[in-house]
Amino acid sequence: MRIYITVTVICVYICLFCSEKETIHHVFFDCVVAKQCWKIVSGILGVQIGVDLVNVGTYWLSNKKNCVLNIISSAVIWSVWKLRNDICFQRIGWRGMEMLLGRIVGLLLSWMVICPVDMKDSLKECIDKIKTAASRVLWLPFVSSQVTT
Ligand SMILES: [Zn+2]
Repeated sequence: MRIYITVTVICVYICLFCSEKETIHHVFFDCVVAKQCWKIVSGILGVQIGVDLVNVGTYWLSNKKNCVLNIISSAVIWSVWKLRNDICFQRIGWRGMEMLLGRIVGLLLSWMVICPVDMKDSLKECIDKIKTAASRVLWLPFVSSQVTT
């Protein structure tokens, strides 16, 4: 007697940060982790950034005056993606926002070489503010849907 078993696999990707359905937009912009990160960065830069890819990409098309903003937004996106992949493939544990902010700081420090000389001080100042935010991140208010565009 043979028994046949049919297995149906439903492939739904779950966000490794918050367990909601994972999409590209979610990981980089809608996830509570991404929103908190963009809120911190927006506060430091004095510019609302990280609403969506169009919002971030608008500054990429601008001239050199947004160079520091573009380096930081690129570092945020790259760090979120690398951390998400390290959680997925290297099975490192998610330990909180300071983990992500620390990675962004490390990446920005290594990217100082691509920053124009006349903007290095501005970038360094932002890096220091991100470091400070990372050290007190547990004391920041939780991000809700009140983020304005
Ligand atoms: Zn999420």
